[in-house]
Amino acid sequence: MQGAFFEHVRILTKLGATVREVRLPRDLDGLDGIILPGGESTTIGKLLEAWDVLVPLRSAIVRGLPCWGTCAGAILMARHVSGTLPGQPLLSVMDISVRRNAFGRQVQSFETGIVIDGMDTDVPFPAMFIRAPKIESVGPDATAIATLDDGTIVAARQGNWLATSFHPELTSDPRFHTWFLDIALANREHSSAFAGAAMP
Ligand code: GLN
Repeated sequence: MQGAFFEHVRILTKLGATVREVRLPRDLDGLDGIILPGGESTTIGKLLEAWDVLVPLRSAIVRGLPCWGTCAGAILMARHVSGTLPGQPLLSVMDISVRRNAFGRQVQSFETGIVIDGMDTDVPFPAMFIRAPKIESVGPDATAIATLDDGTIVAARQGNWLATSFHPELTSDPRFHTWFLDIALANREHSSAFAGAAMP
């Protein structure tokens, strides 16, 4: 819809995934996973609503579609958001509370190395924060998977859903995208095994 979607496309394509940009309801058909990019959550939400994608996208995610929101995308996914504009359309699916623009203005953007719980490496991930939201609380359905030194939660997971305050698509480190593709693939295999088991 808006924001840093092309940067995600570039990394996913490099990793061998087949990528489709989603702008219309029919673009949702047959996806194994979806990434909601960084940008302006207000704009993305309004466009999702205007192009009739908000409702079918929400139901696809609630039915179990693997989903990863980066920055504005994480805001769209959160069930509780502070600092929103009145009536801002949101997906409100993930059990996290976020505060928009909680690190200050664009000039206060920063990069720092953080360790991600669940990613199978202890090498810190270069996390870039640009007018990022803070995840103020998680749970009980979600868990925090990354924090800054001061304890601020900056990434969370709930089953096949990930939310990050930062932007892995703006770095040259593909580990986050590789991890999300693994989650999407595992879910596809699980779903088709399940569908197979249900066949006569
Ligand atoms: N501040 C933006 C918002 O509230 C998010 C910024 C970003 O995605 N880099 O939507």
